[in-house]
Amino acid sequence: MEDCLFCRIVAGEIPAEIVHSTERTVAFRDINAQAPTHVLVVPKDHYANAAELAAGDPVASAELVSTAAAVATAEGHDDYRLVFNTGAGVGQTVFHAHLHVLAGRSMTWPPG
Ligand code: 5GP
Repeated sequence: MEDCLFCRIVAGEIPAEIVHSTERTVAFRDINAQAPTHVLVVPKDHYANAAELAAGDPVASAELVSTAAAVATAEGHDDYRLVFNTGAGVGQTVFHAHLHVLAGRSMTWPPG
């Protein structure tokens, strides 16, 4: 989708600090980091959210999680939080599926 921010990052049209990529995913640092490690893992193909990704490409959906784990390990974290915001009502602002990898500080539960 030409007007999708994360599609444009995947295509290399908008710069991002890419830390990892696989056949179906790209991982890059969040521009507004909420933790010492804050990486977004996205599918290369466009899906609006995690549910659409899981329904449309279960292999890529699983690869998102394994990529996230690889990123956390590469950055030296045994403890990390993975978040999918699905829907504007819970804070999704970019409607291209993405898995937040957050680590490197203590965190509370439940999230705000
Ligand atoms: P959401 O709120 O949709 O779950 O997460 C979207 C994330 O994308 C936010 O954490 C936001 O900081 C990040 N973001 C928004 N625009 C850009 C950008 O241009 N580059 C990067 N690297 N991250 C972005």
